Amino acid sequence: MDIILDDENQRIYGEETITYHNNSTDNLEYLWLQLDQNKRAANSKTPDIQGSGASPLYSLQNFSDNFITPFDGGFKIEYVKNIDNNDISYVINQTMMRINLERPLGSGETYSFKIKWWYNINNHVEQGGRSGFEHFPDDGNNSYVIAQFFPRLCVYNNVEGWQNNQFWGRSEFALEFGDYEVSITTPNDHILGATGILKNEKEVLTKTQQKRLTEARKSFDNPLIIVTQAEATKTEQSKSKKTKIWKFFAENVRDYAFATSRKFIWDAMAVDINGRTVMAYSYYTKEANPLYGDHSTRAVAQTLKTYSRVTFDYPYHKAISVDGQMGMEYPQICFNPGRPNPDGTYSERTKYRMLGTTIHEVGHNFFPMIVNSDERQWTWMDEGLNSFVQLIANRDYDANFPLRRGIPKNIVPYMKGDQSKLSPIMAAGDDLYEFGNNAYAKPATALWILRHTIMGPELFDYAFKTYAQRWKFKHPTPADFFRTMEDASAMDLDWFWRGWFYTTGANDIGIKEVKKYYVTDKPTKQAEKLAARYGMKVDQLSPSLYLISEDSDEFSEELKNKKPEDYKLLSDYIDSNFSSEEKTNLEVPKYFYELVFEKLGELVMPIIVEFEYEDGTKERKQYPAQIWRKNDIEVTKVFPSSKAITKITIDPDEETADVNTSNNSWPKTTETTFSKFKKSQIKG
Ligand SMILES: [Zn+2]
Repeated sequence: MDIILDDENQRIYGEETITYHNNSTDNLEYLWLQLDQNKRAANSKTPDIQGSGASPLYSLQNFSDNFITPFDGGFKIEYVKNIDNNDISYVINQTMMRINLERPLGSGETYSFKIKWWYNINNHVEQGGRSGFEHFPDDGNNSYVIAQFFPRLCVYNNVEGWQNNQFWGRSEFALEFGDYEVSITTPNDHILGATGILKNEKEVLTKTQQKRLTEARKSFDNPLIIVTQAEATKTEQSKSKKTKIWKFFAENVRDYAFATSRKFIWDAMAVDINGRTVMAYSYYTKEANPLYGDHSTRAVAQTLKTYSRVTFDYPYHKAISVDGQMGMEYPQICFNPGRPNPDGTYSERTKYRMLGTTIHEVGHNFFPMIVNSDERQWTWMDEGLNSFVQLIANRDYDANFPLRRGIPKNIVPYMKGDQSKLSPIMAAGDDLYEFGNNAYAKPATALWILRHTIMGPELFDYAFKTYAQRWKFKHPTPADFFRTMEDASAMDLDWFWRGWFYTTGANDIGIKEVKKYYVTDKPTKQAEKLAARYGMKVDQLSPSLYLISEDSDEFSEELKNKKPEDYKLLSDYIDSNFSSEEKTNLEVPKYFYELVFEKLGELVMPIIVEFEYEDGTKERKQYPAQIWRKNDIEVTKVFPSSKAITKITIDPDEETADVNTSNNSWPKTTETTFSKFKKSQIKG
């Protein structure tokens, strides 16, 4: 690809040669290409499918785009030619272009063709978008973050053939792996970061920059500055009329993106990934400093380390974070938000937002850039998995990192919300209600619960790593994820996927009733009844003990003072069945609690029960979700104990996203008027 950036007019020109390898077993009559920028074409249907009211305020740019003349940022295709320079026929349907092949491309065959194009770059701060330029009125310069900027192949796979769903702007991308040879022409005073290995460092970087870069390649503890703020500030005071060409080669990447400006400060640091050096880079304007200088490259480095530990060693040679006023990810490069106050100070909130996004976007290098799921169809497969691993990296970077998205109790308000405004996770991104909760927070929470509550870290971590390794550089579908998690752990999780991913149900498990039983050696009426069902009397059965409930009319207070081993029947049994050594450690329960659990929510979940005893000690018992398989509404369990229970709490750590905790304890906690009054005082 030969790319020319026209900074004066904010335009981009490209000429590309694509060589397509038909690795499928099918013959292809045509090829589909994605023209993502047509979402910004003057005749784009994207604005037409969104309901909109009258806004009280429009920026001049937005007023003009909406009411005077729509911005035209669509592709201008100058030609599509075969390798012999003959025109090829093609059809454009909005953001998709069909190349009509002269003859079908057979399985295993290769086809090369050329496309020439240009488009007007949008101001992404004013007009929105995942790509574009930001204008800095103070110095008159632009900063470019350029992505989905060239016609690129759609995915053809053995699951659904061509993935050519339109790009409406929200659901992201389905992309093939490929090798890229790219030349980018920029003004001579620009600094540029891009996907791929820079092939002509000596031609585009100064001697000083090259020397600093060589030093940075050995700096594993701290980032070193390649272009200082003072140098960048000086550069932005004039505009070079000359140009230079940056040459890159990227191998086996899913996409290509770059960022460039004469305003860029640049720092770099080496990261050791299991003995291999990977570079972490940040490019940022002075407006983003010192926030970016303090944290950006360090966050990139931490993300590569954490994700490599959790999934597989990061296979590329570098990862870049660019100060771009938005969060968006591409192979080896991502754009991030967050700027300090004009005086250079920044709040904890600003810092954690910038760090959270940076770690998230760098993390996308693993999902979906390498574990190459279809973002257009299944947003959760990259956003959900990535949001989950991000939580681990956040805490690796800063032990006090505030975690929000992905923590079970934080998803409760969403899950108990209006059912008509919820979609299952297994829905296409463009059609989702509450995109953020549905595609990011809920799947991340589901994985958090799987790891912490259902599978346990040992089984989960191994299975998750297996999924990542098994599907790297491939196109996994949801079933591939579900299957691998079960395959590598020997856990049947079908119930979990069904509830959490295919429905909008919520979890609400409560404790409905608790009955206390004691042991007696005198047959109860209940026992006689049971024997009668088999046409017998209890004395015809083998010797037995009987449980008698505290509220039974046969119950007498003296039973409370008896221990089971006081009954000769049991003490004889113990004597003849246990060795004296075994007997010293023997603990015979005195109390038998019959617990009735009710399930008011649609989700099936384990029941986590905490018992508090009269001596103040506590004990936990977790009943697997399978407890619900024969009765989806109510289950009963008997719990033996040598100490009296004073309190029972379900899900004491709020780890199951139970949407109603008012039924989670026994005895029922009734709020007194006074405690309600106290609470209202605190709130006020
Ligand atoms: Zn994301």
